Amino acid sequence: MKKLPTVAYFSMEFGLDSNFKIYAGGLGILAGDYLKAAKDLGYPVVGVGILWKQGYNKQIVTEEYGVIDAFPIYRYNFLKDTGVKVKVRIRNRDVYCKVWKVDNFENADLYLLDTDLPENADRWITGQLYGWFGEERVAQEMVLGIGGVRALKELGIKVDVYHFNEGHAVFAGLELVRYYMEEKGLSFEQALSKAREKIVFTTHTPVEAGNETHPLRLLMYMGANLNLTEEQLVHIGGAPFNMTVAALRLARISNAVSDLHRITANAMWAQVDRRSRIIGITNGVHVGTWADRRILESRHNPEKLWQTHTQIKRELLDFVEKRTGIKLREDVLTIGFARRAAPYKRSDLIFRDKEAADKMFKNDLQIIFAGKSHPLDDTGKEIVNNIIAMSKKYPGKVVFLEDYDMEIGKMLTRGCDIWLNNPRRPLEACGTSGMKAAMNGVLNVSTLDGWWPEACQHGINGWQIGDGFESKDEKEQDSHDLKSLVNVMQNEVIPTYYKNRDKWVKMMQNSIESTLEKFSAERMVKEYYEKMYIQKSHED
Ligand SMILES: *Cc1c(COP(=O)(O)O)cnc(C)c1O
Repeated sequence: MKKLPTVAYFSMEFGLDSNFKIYAGGLGILAGDYLKAAKDLGYPVVGVGILWKQGYNKQIVTEEYGVIDAFPIYRYNFLKDTGVKVKVRIRNRDVYCKVWKVDNFENADLYLLDTDLPENADRWITGQLYGWFGEERVAQEMVLGIGGVRALKELGIKVDVYHFNEGHAVFAGLELVRYYMEEKGLSFEQALSKAREKIVFTTHTPVEAGNETHPLRLLMYMGANLNLTEEQLVHIGGAPFNMTVAALRLARISNAVSDLHRITANAMWAQVDRRSRIIGITNGVHVGTWADRRILESRHNPEKLWQTHTQIKRELLDFVEKRTGIKLREDVLTIGFARRAAPYKRSDLIFRDKEAADKMFKNDLQIIFAGKSHPLDDTGKEIVNNIIAMSKKYPGKVVFLEDYDMEIGKMLTRGCDIWLNNPRRPLEACGTSGMKAAMNGVLNVSTLDGWWPEACQHGINGWQIGDGFESKDEKEQDSHDLKSLVNVMQNEVIPTYYKNRDKWVKMMQNSIESTLEKFSAERMVKEYYEKMYIQKSHED
């Protein structure tokens, strides 16, 4: 058998464990799940990331001040010193990056760069994850990309494939181009095509504004160009320099994170010439992390499965009471809704039909929200405030858990009865939290966005909201989806839960069986190897 290619997986964040705060949300948790699945499979993968001193914001909400962001400094005792230090020249100053190794969360080896060293004038580059913009963001991306490639070389790891998880790692591509030009004497064109042979890219953001750009002059000033001319930079990333466009041109092949997202991404980047093709590889989640062992063990016996579910639901309600002081009811249909506070996720949709909401929340429903917003995102904070207003309007029925993290994610995706997801299609690239829920027999009720069209069998393993309707007119789309949401809740979900328990439990079983393998991170990593990493001789 041929040896599998060695892959270096670059990501700005990794979600390996709730208390290891080098992640913000879905992107990082995907990266963590990827490293765990690669380890389970025994595939030759290493991760490359940053040791964030303060991580992402810790977010709390108080009566007096509203939403407050805190930035504690974290220290970890499990980091292994590799003894390796690499240098990146940023703003005309040498920045030293110490390289740590992490391998204790059942993950493949992860190498983390850290600039918080006494010899650095710029110790704070690895301070806050997504904390700053402009120069600081570019500096962080230079550490990840340029520092990352140099660290791997210094560690003696021979890399066959550089995988960029999002555009943040694009400067790793420039470093490879620089290497082939300066150290191998190739021309720019030759070096670019040589680098392309080794790079693959995963795009995540179906919103134009979510794709980061930087002014060319800033990149030149920072030294991110690595001696390339402005013209050469434009050839790769355009002007202003678009990190996604650059990644699409630096990669030999790229992927979107669900089949629907493949269509969206191809349409979105249709105008970009000289780019790689974009195939679809749907995300998956790490089963050992996200599926409750007790659920998997009892899933073939309906009675036991229901008992186990009830037990886990009780654990969730206790957890909620401990955190909030609010005691929810065990016999009431419980919705979970946990999301980054972004407008397209429409966390308030279920409340917009006031009459229907009053009626449903009076007897039949309770909902647990969790979410958090970027510290500089006022719209996101408004969304959080709005949910808190709802928890006051429906006391004892609507609760909000602050500081959404992996622990809350775990509790909710195994302890609720249904998982509500109503993004404005097609803006959800994938949405992995629904997979976690599905594997635990928590039934998805979701618009046909992201991964759900690939999994949904309406009334069998969950429910769809609406029919995949899309409109340029947001109001029209929202009112269409709201009608469908109320309809499916009142006519299907609520009656099944209270009047047909046998069918409900059967649906739980179907939910688990239809997702456990198909939406696992193991399947995803295997697919990456088959479709992206292993080069077929006749291709590309
Ligand atoms: C799974 C998970 C996510 C990603 O879920 P989405 O469905 O993409 O919103 C984000 N944050 C946490 C804490 C998670 O566990």
